[in-house]
Amino acid sequence: MTRAEIVVDLAAIRHNVRLLRELVGTTMITVVKADAYGHGMVEVARAARDAGAEWLAVATLDEARALRAGGDTGPVLTWLTVPGERYDDVVRAGIDLTAYSVAELDEIAAADAGVPARVQLKVDTGLGRGGAIRADWERFFARARAGEEAGAWTVTGIWSHLACADEPDHPANDAQQAAFDDALALAAAAGLRPALRHLANSAAAILRPGARYDAVRVGLASYGLDPAPSVEHGTDLRPAMTVRAELALVKHLAAGDSVSYGHTWTAAAPTTIGLVPAGYAEGVPVAGSGRLEVAVDGTRRPLRGRVCMDQVLVDLGGDEPPAGTDVVLFGPPGEGRATAQDWAEACGTISYEIVTRVGGRMPRRHV
Ligand code: PLP
Repeated sequence: MTRAEIVVDLAAIRHNVRLLRELVGTTMITVVKADAYGHGMVEVARAARDAGAEWLAVATLDEARALRAGGDTGPVLTWLTVPGERYDDVVRAGIDLTAYSVAELDEIAAADAGVPARVQLKVDTGLGRGGAIRADWERFFARARAGEEAGAWTVTGIWSHLACADEPDHPANDAQQAAFDDALALAAAAGLRPALRHLANSAAAILRPGARYDAVRVGLASYGLDPAPSVEHGTDLRPAMTVRAELALVKHLAAGDSVSYGHTWTAAAPTTIGLVPAGYAEGVPVAGSGRLEVAVDGTRRPLRGRVCMDQVLVDLGGDEPPAGTDVVLFGPPGEGRATAQDWAEACGTISYEIVTRVGGRMPRRHV
């Protein structure tokens, strides 16, 4: 009997990447950071390349190293270094670094890799996170150009990131795009001619054609999850992740019986309850206690009581399916299944967090 496992459908990922690549018509940068949002970085990287992703992107240098160790030889962008990081091997591996500041450019110049680095410049157009702020753009671009002329690096891209792309009518989108255009004009005036200008994440790639520039950085939608659930856009995305288990135990409850820590739920009438061997150590959010639903043999059933570390309890409504009966915690829609988006809504979070957090002791299988 299987305890609980993550099953990732790579054909769904290939479908999503291919579909989005055709939709946007620009270079596709598939974002595979955080172990490909919990889907398995090396396997997803291969599937994305097969489906036409010209680039992959990760946050950290170690993630980029892991991609190379996994056999990927194509263009890779990283964007989250911290002061004092070692760059030389990553530069020699042909990985694009992102610089946010003159200080970071100075560190890259000092890395002494023996070959010119590939550097993309990040500008903050309003997210207020990483990236050079407007007041520093001229100095930042001048330093970038000087390093290029000195042979320390080639500036391969300029990019920024949107704060409100999942709300297409939010005024921040126009403001950020206008600021990005200003940055591009200043960079050109400084003599920079990077091949890749990019701004859009999944939501903007789908909803904002004017933000597609030379490339888009698509994470969530590659995994088949909707990056803008409150907008009707009809993109045929296929969720790739299923988290499943098998019922470990079924037992009877009398009216008045309570279950799990704190006795937060009490049976109003006699029922049957099933034990599902996955808990918050596997990524089932405690915030979903009393709110989540799962599919037991194709029928939607509510979880009861508090989510425990190793297990959760499902109300079987008086039915007595045998131990070993299939339970889908979440997966693609259909056959009674809850989706990662359903779980996110039940827990007051986003689907990104649901899929990125599952794991723990669960094995993951790619099909
Ligand atoms: N670009 C950057 C800088 C990001 O941090 C992320 C993800 O958080 C993405 C692109 C991809 O975003 P999404 O998953 O919404 O497509």
